[in-house]
Amino acid sequence: MDISLPAFLQERIIWLGDKLLRDRLLVAGGTADQRGEFVCYWMHHAVRGHENPALDVAIHHATMLKMPLLVYHAICEEYPYASDRHHAFMLQGARDVQRELADLGVRYVFHLQRESHRGPHLRELAKRAAVLVTESMPVEPIVGWIERIQSACSTPIAVVDCACIVPLTLTNKGYTRAYEFRDATKSILEQRLAHPYPHQPVTCEPYYGPLPFYPLNLQDADLRELIGKCKIDHTVGPVIDSPGGSRAGYVRWEIFKSDALRRYAKRRNNAADQNGVSRLSAYLHFGMTSPFRIAREAAEHQADKFLDELLVWRELAFHFCFHQQQPLDSIERIPEWARRSLELHRSDLREQNYSWESLARGKTCSSLWNACQRSLLKHGELHNNLRMTWGKAMLSWTDSAERALHMMIDLNHRYALDGRDPSSYGGLLWCMGQFDRPFEPEIPVFGHVRPRSLIEHEKRIDMGKYVSLVDRSIAVERTRVAVVGAGIAGLVAARTLSDHGLDVHVFDKSRGIGGRMATRRIDDVIRFDHGAQYFTARDERFTRQVHSWIHDGIVAPWHGRVVQLNKGEVVAEKSSTSRYVATPGMSSLGRHLAIGLNVTCETLVKELRPTDDKYGERWHLLDESESDLGGFDYVIVNAPPAQSLPLLRPHSPLAMNIEPVTMSPCWSLMIQVETIAAIPFDAAFVDDSSLAWICRNDTKPGRAKCDPACWVLHASAKWSTDHLESSAEDVTVHLQQAFAECIGVGIAKLRCLAVHQWRYAIPATTLDRDCIWDPATKLGACGDWCGGPRVEGAYLSGAAIAGSLLRDMTIDRRASSAKTEYTGQLF
Ligand code: FAD
Repeated sequence: MDISLPAFLQERIIWLGDKLLRDRLLVAGGTADQRGEFVCYWMHHAVRGHENPALDVAIHHATMLKMPLLVYHAICEEYPYASDRHHAFMLQGARDVQRELADLGVRYVFHLQRESHRGPHLRELAKRAAVLVTESMPVEPIVGWIERIQSACSTPIAVVDCACIVPLTLTNKGYTRAYEFRDATKSILEQRLAHPYPHQPVTCEPYYGPLPFYPLNLQDADLRELIGKCKIDHTVGPVIDSPGGSRAGYVRWEIFKSDALRRYAKRRNNAADQNGVSRLSAYLHFGMTSPFRIAREAAEHQADKFLDELLVWRELAFHFCFHQQQPLDSIERIPEWARRSLELHRSDLREQNYSWESLARGKTCSSLWNACQRSLLKHGELHNNLRMTWGKAMLSWTDSAERALHMMIDLNHRYALDGRDPSSYGGLLWCMGQFDRPFEPEIPVFGHVRPRSLIEHEKRIDMGKYVSLVDRSIAVERTRVAVVGAGIAGLVAARTLSDHGLDVHVFDKSRGIGGRMATRRIDDVIRFDHGAQYFTARDERFTRQVHSWIHDGIVAPWHGRVVQLNKGEVVAEKSSTSRYVATPGMSSLGRHLAIGLNVTCETLVKELRPTDDKYGERWHLLDESESDLGGFDYVIVNAPPAQSLPLLRPHSPLAMNIEPVTMSPCWSLMIQVETIAAIPFDAAFVDDSSLAWICRNDTKPGRAKCDPACWVLHASAKWSTDHLESSAEDVTVHLQQAFAECIGVGIAKLRCLAVHQWRYAIPATTLDRDCIWDPATKLGACGDWCGGPRVEGAYLSGAAIAGSLLRDMTIDRRASSAKTEYTGQLF
């Protein structure tokens, strides 16, 4: 029995941990070693200082145990789909609650996991606490995190429901039909709605003892810079017109309440009418607005339809998830009849089998679906009425129900600000038959699962209006971005920004695109990858893309036999690494990334000239003949350091960072060779030679077989540096000789087809950050010499610089389209 804990709080708690210990502590005050140093409230999904049952439970226990209270709130890099968008929203929320709790005299400490700030802080605090209080959120990762904390310490843990009006503890099963849930919870709901949330004064002391980290003061912190230090997905930009936090949440609610709540029932199904719905779901998901207040005030306005959505459909999903086995992202979570029916139609012919990338970027055959996806990608939201049609399309466009569910969850959680909420699972599982009945007639692919036609939906919606709503700017105003260099980093940056609707122009001095990821064509028949040979993929942010490119046939795994050679002897096998190549040549990846982008080749950008026009673009780009290439607000330079410096040095202190970075050269020879016996490998790293790498190009997937065989030879960095100024003829003679010596097989005939010098081939040193960005001048630089000296590093660097720009344009800026003029009291 929890002494004197008010009933409205008591009914919201689930206790975890050692019951005996808890009883001893809470009833008898505990022994010294049971008592701990403080009561700790771990905040994550009730990010508010008002109407917060978990905070009230924590205050109550701290008061009762005569212990100080510590509120710990953290954002880590490991939650699923972690991105700049979710981070920005949560950080803005943290900033609000930090101020709110400071005003109440409650000690709140915030930690952001980032570069050089990583450690198991929650576990340590939980071990030192007498009681750990936290909120219930019946979805992953929270369920698993709470379980892990529980197993790591013996501290009693109070898990408090702060999200539902009908407490999760008061239902004994997960209802699967809305009417059943409505009937079962009607009286509980009515009783809870009838009372205002009881005000709890702060009756305990704040904890000011030692902490395992230095807490962040978010009031003056630069959120853009902080997020840049986190190892998360930077390609999903923050949303300017949905800033996080209680203040923004209540402004939205007040405007909706006064303008639209009354007519909600009429307007709610029109996706082209942005203000016809509350757009509160993300604020409710993170508990930045109190569901108690929203429900109470909606009830005062007798907004029955809105209340039905908020209290029946939303809470049905919470209670369902709470009573379900985890994980929820499994086909096992849909009803037996739906699973069976989908299974029977497993081998039905699908309309399409889209890759993750085609879906994520909204490149399908349906303009309505693409607009829905752009809404998610650019603005982090999708109107509820369209979300079901959007979700169901995945069944027709993927090769199995499992993959359809996986794609729905991925795209929803990754892009929607309210992703990962129980309501998200409710809606997405509904697309697969959950909370629904079998539907007649049985049709291909869907079986008895209710279909929803995109074509029919498109007829019902004002497409022109919806598309212009979706294609509104993500920034304060129209923004022009120039990218100098169409290497992998530049193209990734350009594509990410263009996908967010920005006006991007790419310039490259070469004839082709892709930079060092290049393919040389000889006599129109033979192709050589004379730059990057293959790439590896280790970071999840890159592997996801690589798998999608494999699906689309742009990339293939390369299973060639790769060895290490020393003087003609194979001294080690090197085939176990997973290697990938673009097909049919390495340059295909650059070409793929450039589809739909505005790229001008054979244009060397010689100078960036600042303008003094206060209202126009900041920068003009000039080419070698001083022709003006246009005006731009932001410029990203994606060129090797030596080529970036002359552009940036006159304007930005960024140049200081670039100066120490050096690149090694590489001589590359493309040959055709006939040997007297077959060479027993496809590629080799070569020791103790002028050569560092040799590779039979036509054994890579997607390449036409050549006879005689085509080999690419790369000289070592040292030899290439020592022979930087040698003639191509001398280099050819020497490297052919080195090849003959290292393969260990006699040569019958050898013909050199081309020789190429890469003056800036591979970074000899790299910067310790993914990109460099100067917010004062709006200039940035990216490339493999920033994050890591490979294709993967270039990809991540391009993503990082795009993230810097997106954060600069959106975080704590005011959207011209957003209604934010409410000036009344918020809480
Ligand atoms: P880049 O590809 O260098 O692109 C920069 C672009 O900027 C170029 O297209 C250039 O033309 C353009 N540019 C420069 N200055 C200007 C200007 N003033 N105006 C306009 N355009 C300009 N990586 C691997 O992962 N695996 C490998 O096996 C591998 N092998 C390699 C072998 C060689 C010989 C070389 C050269 C590289 C290899 N790499 C490999 C490295 C890989 O190619 C690079 O890491 C990656 O391609 C770099 O991409 P990036 O976008 O940073 O720059």
